Amino acid sequence: MAFYTQSIPKEVLEKFRQYIEQAQNIILVSHTNPDGDALGSSLGLWHYLNLRGKTTNVIVPNRFPGFLKWLPGLDRIVIYEQDERKCAQLFKEADLVICLDFNAFHRVERLEKYLVGFRKPVLLIDHHLEPDVTFDSSISYTDSSSTSELVFDLIEGLGDKELINLDIAKCLYVGIMTDTGSFSYSCKHSRPFNITGFLVEKGLDVQSVNVLVYSTQSEDRLRLLGHLLSKRMVVMSEYNTAYIWLSLSDQEKFNYRPGDAEGFVNYALTIEGIKLAAFFTEKKDVVRISLRSKGDFSVNDMARRHFEGGGHRNAAGGNSFLSLRGTILRFRKIVEVYEKFLSNSI
Ligand code: 5GP
Ligand code: MN
Repeated sequence: MAFYTQSIPKEVLEKFRQYIEQAQNIILVSHTNPDGDALGSSLGLWHYLNLRGKTTNVIVPNRFPGFLKWLPGLDRIVIYEQDERKCAQLFKEADLVICLDFNAFHRVERLEKYLVGFRKPVLLIDHHLEPDVTFDSSISYTDSSSTSELVFDLIEGLGDKELINLDIAKCLYVGIMTDTGSFSYSCKHSRPFNITGFLVEKGLDVQSVNVLVYSTQSEDRLRLLGHLLSKRMVVMSEYNTAYIWLSLSDQEKFNYRPGDAEGFVNYALTIEGIKLAAFFTEKKDVVRISLRSKGDFSVNDMARRHFEGGGHRNAAGGNSFLSLRGTILRFRKIVEVYEKFLSNSI
């Protein structure tokens, strides 16, 4: 089925309309280690709400990767770890919070206390599985390519499609393209393609955005990739699984900066026959785990059950509090448990 029939129900749109109309001070919050969709959807909505005359601020827990630094409005984002006082003040003044691209409060780490303690409405726009908080109203569809797609749906549903300008177009497109790997997954419906067509009509230059997103890597990052692929990748061929690890000492050697290994997990998944790929990043007090899969194998399930995490069926993440070595040994054991789902070929 290539057509996309789902749209935001009228009652939900009406609720969003009322909440937005009644609010003057709005905060948009997105998740830790904000990615293209987190920032694209938040900034897209930020531009729109500004056009509607609202005082709006985007708050994220920590810094964002350099390849997104050109996004229109990015310099106005408030980063909690850099300005805790300002965040506290903004939450005090706000009369509405909208959470974008996450559905569990712990995904914003130390910002969580502000969301939990917020006494006014909190809305959700998101496309992850199994929201674990009750929101005052939600736009939450796992079939959507991205949260940015849902922000487009909201703006259109509110009758404001013609307010979408080039700044909004760039932000929403970045969310859609990064969350679908440039239309290679999570886009089985025509909707993200149609939205992109509309954004192009608004002046979006797809080619220049692609250059900004994909051809701005640092030399260190590319060399780190070479090192990891040749020295730190293990293939468990009997389980159609491949994993890569990144230690603290490798990080030092390659002048690693947060975000430098973004997307590396996908290389392991490009090996023929591989169904499950994992990437382990050693941090001072935790090992971050990124999981990816092809086909029916649910890494969301694996992350939730074993690594205190979650995400989507084919892309999820989690944490381990064992050493890097201990984490990898445990992962190998877990993979063996999933043998029946992994060992048959795709
Ligand atoms: P990544 O591997 O890029 O960090 O994350 C992949 C996907 O899993 C993203 O959509 C992200 O939102 C989700 N994810 C990553 N880490 C966590 C986590 O700790 N908990 C949950 N619930 N989702 C996560
Ligand atoms: Mn997303």
